[in-house]
Amino acid sequence: MKALFLDRDGTLIVDVPYLADPTRVQLLPGVREGFIRARGLGYRFFLFTNQSGVGRGYFTLDDALRCNARLVELLELGPDIFAGSCTAPEAPDQPSVYRKPSPRFILEMIAAHGLDPTQCVMVGDRESDVRAGLSAGTRAAGVCTGEYDEATWHRLAIPGVTVHVDFGAFAKTLA
Ligand SMILES: [Mg+2]
Repeated sequence: MKALFLDRDGTLIVDVPYLADPTRVQLLPGVREGFIRARGLGYRFFLFTNQSGVGRGYFTLDDALRCNARLVELLELGPDIFAGSCTAPEAPDQPSVYRKPSPRFILEMIAAHGLDPTQCVMVGDRESDVRAGLSAGTRAAGVCTGEYDEATWHRLAIPGVTVHVDFGAFAKTLA
């Protein structure tokens, strides 16, 4: 069993700081095609997003979940395109359970779904995303559609992380 663990903001949708309004959810180019390719190869999908705006009191968990639901709607790949999801609500200064770079959600899903971690990839636009994957024993990929550009990823030079212009380009590398 193989799977992709996917960050939301800056990876699948345009990064709008503290996004709480579903009408502002906008898929990044090539994302839907990337899902179709990966699904055809047998990958399952898990959504894994940090939403510190909840912990900071800027918006509610329900607001964040409504934005997740809008993402699913825009993908037009059915309501069950994600086999699981985690919306970590903690602010950085709050005791963290699921907040990336914690690998906890990934480890739980590997156990619950019988996933082979070496056949899984955590994809995200910042270091905490890829660190969560690497800590869980999965592969990790960075995209340049959010927090970091290609130069920043290469300066960080995190061992084991591949860098791609966007999710669609990453998906093309899957076998
Ligand atoms: Mg992100």
